This record gives sequence, structure tokens and C-alpha cells, in this order.
Amino acid sequence: MGLSKTIWANPPEFLRAQEPEHPVIFFAPSVLQATARRFLDGFPGLVTYAVKSNPAEMVIQNLVAAGIKGFDVASPVEIAMIRRLAPGAAMHYNNPVRAKSEIAFAVTQGVVSYSVDSRSELEKLIALVPTQNPHGPTEITVRFKLPVEGAAYNFGAKFGATVEVAAALLARVAEAGFVPSLTFHPGTQCTAPMTWDAYIRAAAEICRQSGVQARRLNVGGGFPSHRVKGELPPLEAIFALIGRVTREAFGDKAPALVCEPGRGLVAESMTSAAQVKAVRDGTHVFLNDGTYGLMDELLLAGVITRLTVLAPAGVKREGPTVPRIIFGPTCDSVDRLPGEVPLPEGIAEGDYLVIEGMGAYSTATNTAFNGFGAVSVVTVLSLTL
Ligand SMILES: *Cc1c(COP(=O)(O)O)cnc(C)c1O
Repeated sequence: MGLSKTIWANPPEFLRAQEPEHPVIFFAPSVLQATARRFLDGFPGLVTYAVKSNPAEMVIQNLVAAGIKGFDVASPVEIAMIRRLAPGAAMHYNNPVRAKSEIAFAVTQGVVSYSVDSRSELEKLIALVPTQNPHGPTEITVRFKLPVEGAAYNFGAKFGATVEVAAALLARVAEAGFVPSLTFHPGTQCTAPMTWDAYIRAAAEICRQSGVQARRLNVGGGFPSHRVKGELPPLEAIFALIGRVTREAFGDKAPALVCEPGRGLVAESMTSAAQVKAVRDGTHVFLNDGTYGLMDELLLAGVITRLTVLAPAGVKREGPTVPRIIFGPTCDSVDRLPGEVPLPEGIAEGDYLVIEGMGAYSTATNTAFNGFGAVSVVTVLSLTL
């Protein structure tokens, strides 16, 4: 990834001037900072950032500058990076399965909050993590799951204890002398706010069953980003629902709230541009970027419509659209966007397919498969097309 030294006005200005032959991702720090402020002003608790969604240093630095004071980390590499870039920030090690060596490393780096979803992993933590740290008692957060839908991808398929198991784990955490807390993840790109409602009420039920008052409730990530033309995610409505349901479910024993958005914080701050390599026999569109590149996650997203086609002169192609199959550059047949994507009928070789809302799970999952994967990161003042 080459980092451009110049700050450009917007994506069309760069595309016009450079006519890049590799995929480009445009980053607007102003948009990232504005989104961070929206979370900090609206969410009724501590806002942390899920580093995996985009671990670029400039992303972390801009979030710190905007006032983000906590990070959800999942590996020693992420822990070391946050220690370096945000030395005073809280780190929540919320990958519930860890090797003993990973736990030992986290302890040396001053991690004082760990999530867990099983008895065996909890006993590993109890054996290896001191109950007290220089700032007070260490927190263990029990992660639970419910059989509910509402997100693009069901995180409960891999992690999370049932309500009954979570109640037993929470009691064991308290008995072992750690701060007992609860967490869940409603699933990424969660467009059904009632999912949070169901999870928060289940958290209160876990506290009742275990007889333990949770100190904090981490309501996960999952905050949606704008994926389909014309649909703006109702972030403020979700924040209000989380606050209201927590008061209703817990009354005066309400735990302090934490959230850990990845996508919801970073997606809007980046826009990608891929060049059309060919319109094969007038039908299939081949791009220089695909699902092994910045578009890995689009496989989960269904047909995306939040895209714009720019001719090499930076001018938008408008007019009637035709549904097209879009392929990426590798020789693998999986390297194709889902469904048929509506594209302007005049799309031609050399044009750019510009996709907004690409800050999450794009550069983070880019691979060099088949010799592709070179991406330029270009800083822009605005993402206006
Ligand atoms: C990935 C992840 C997140 C972020 O999820 P988004 O859907 O991107 O907001 C938050 N918490 C945990 C534990 C995760 O694994």
C-alpha cells in the first residue's frame, strides 16, 4: 500500500489527474472524525473501536484525535499497535479464545478487560490473569448469544454462550474475584434495532439467574453503515433504544454501557475506485479489484447499489442502467460480486467503478492472490463525487 503525500480535494480530482491503473481507496479524515463525534455525542456510554475492521495507523490516529479512548483488540499484534499509537487508551481483549502465550502477552501490555464464552477459556484466564492490576480489579466480560436474526452475518455462529451457560460463567467470574461484566455482538451490519432490545433484556435475565450484578454491559459492534442508495442507518435511534431498554430492563441496577463499533465508525470515511479492465463482448464487466482485494466483504452484502461510474475524465456516467455481472481480476470463479449489479449502460473500458462506504473490512482483508492486491491510499478533503 503506497501512501500518497498529497491531499486531494476529492476522488474525481485524483482519478482525472492520475488515471490510476491499480485500485485506490480514498480516505477522508474529516468524515472519520465527524462519525466518531456522532458516536461520542450520541452513545450513552463508552465508545471503543473494533480494530480489526480497519487497523490502518492513520485510522487509529484520527480516532484518538477525535476523542476515542478505548479499543477492542483481538490479537497480540493489535494490542502492541494500540499500545504504541494510543498509550493511554483502554484495551478490551474481546476475542474469547486465546492461546496461553497470548494471554501472557496481554498481561504484560496492561490489558485489564477480557471477554470469555466458555468454562475452559475462563479457567485459563483465572489461572493466568491477576485479579488486581495497578488501576484496580481486572474485568472479565461474559459473551452470550441469542438465536436471533437481523444482521448481514450471524456472529453467534462462532462465539457466545447460551443464557444458561452465561449465568454460570458470570457467577464464576465474580467468585474468582474479577469484575463481572456482560457482552454480546448482534451481528455485523445489523439493520434490525430490535436485536439490541432482545439482547439487553437477556443480559438482565442472566444477571437475575446468576444473582450477580454486571458492572458493565458491552452492546458490541454491528452498527450498520449506509450500503444501499437512499438508506441512511438510524444510528441515533439505535443509541436511544439502547439507553431506554437498558433502563427498562435493569432499573436502578443498570450497568455502565460500552459499545465497540468497527464498521459503524470507519465505513463512511473511505470510498474505493476500481478500473474497468474490460467489458467482455459487451456483457461481463471485469475490474482490477475484486473479492480477493478490497471487495471481500461484498460477498456477504447482497447486491450493492451505492456506486457510481466515472469516465476517465472524472465525469459521472448517468442514464439508464443495465444489470451486469461484475468479475474481479483473478482467475478464480469465486471472484465475482453477488447477483447482477445495475450499471450505466454506457460503461466502458478505462472507467472507474466507485463504491462509497468502503472503510470497513476492505484494506484489512485485501490479499495479493494471483499477483493482484496493490492498492493506493489517497487522502482527500471530501468524498464528494
Ligand atoms: C468484529 C467485532 C466487532 C466489530 O463489529 P462491526 O460489525 O464491524 O461493528 C466488535 N466486537 C467484536 C468482539 C468483534 O469481533
